[in-house]
Amino acid sequence: MAENNSNTIEERDLLILGSGPAGLSAALYAARAELMPLLLTGMILHGQASTTDTIENYPGFPEGVGGSELGQLFQTQAERFGAEIVMDMATSVDLRQRPFVIKTYSKEYRAKSLIISTGASPKKLDVPGEKALTGRGVSYCGTCDGWFFKDKDIVLVGGGDSALEEGLFLTRFARSVTIIHRRDSLRAGALLQKRAFANPKIKFIWDSVVTEIIGDDAVKAVRIKNLKTNQESIQETSAVFVTIGHRPNSELFVDQLELDELGYIKVDKYMHTNIPGVFAGGEIADPHYRQVITSAGMGAAAAIEATRYLENLEDTE
Ligand SMILES: Cc1cc2nc3c(=O)[nH]c(=O)nc-3n(C[C@H](O)[C@H](O)[C@H](O)COP(=O)(O)OP(=O)(O)OC[C@H]3O[C@@H](n4cnc5c(N)ncnc54)[C@H](O)[C@@H]3O)c2cc1C
Repeated sequence: MAENNSNTIEERDLLILGSGPAGLSAALYAARAELMPLLLTGMILHGQASTTDTIENYPGFPEGVGGSELGQLFQTQAERFGAEIVMDMATSVDLRQRPFVIKTYSKEYRAKSLIISTGASPKKLDVPGEKALTGRGVSYCGTCDGWFFKDKDIVLVGGGDSALEEGLFLTRFARSVTIIHRRDSLRAGALLQKRAFANPKIKFIWDSVVTEIIGDDAVKAVRIKNLKTNQESIQETSAVFVTIGHRPNSELFVDQLELDELGYIKVDKYMHTNIPGVFAGGEIADPHYRQVITSAGMGAAAAIEATRYLENLEDTE
């Protein structure tokens, strides 16, 4: 991307940050409301879902749809109604001024309203084999990919609430779920722990970390290291579900917007942030559901709210 050259200033009614399901759905709704929105894609065109081979739980595609294909369809539909999609990313924002000031690598934008849909990134194990086998047995979403591992033995890494929720969910499909946790006790809530310990399909490997994911075109095993004894072992598995948390892409908004303790942007049920005219939708504001459909829904809601905001602004100007 080009160097920052803030001499170029462009004014917009609505700017949207992020080209995942939330941002592109917001762009579609805003374009159909004739707001002529401009969307900055960020570095991951079409967002997280574009990194997966097949999405089988987005309605309207009974045979499933490729992740990047779905992203392109979202984009084409938004563009059909006049949304402008620009390959660039916000490098700084100033929400104290009005219009809001958003700087990118190539331009400075002034926007009367802003929709933030910069998403989140699942935390990675950062071990050999993880990247190459993502989508081939390595997954960061049990709800999305559990179904592919019917009657298989699988491994899950993590020990918090989400890990146990995912583990329990995965027992619907898998023959066994082995949870590998770096400590000798879980961080998850007591009720979840009780349910996990009572489930005959769930086994635990304590005090241990995965140091390698082994496989060629699909996951076959994981190498595990016991942190207390330093002993290594190999556990055969068809999948590795990594549930060690997500990181919201909210660095730009620290000290400007209200964030929760994990860094997610706080919104009310109408996608309003604490600053009038600034809306957020999708995973940047949702640590809970983390799905294409829920993110798209939040993006659409944010755009409807932005439309109302701009209409009211016009009335008072
Ligand atoms: C491997 C994988 C498989 C998945 N499979 C499924 C599935 O089968 N079904 C399902 O429902 N869900 C699935 N998910 C989850 C789903 O992809 C997410 O819930 C969804 O993409 C979230 O959408 P979003 O628009 O909120 O954010 P994201 O998809 O995270 O998109 C964020 C966007 O913001 C952009 N961005 C970031 N910073 C900036 C910036 N400074 N300026 C401008 N833009 C910026 C990024 O480039 C990106 O385009 C999967 C996730 C992963 C990782």
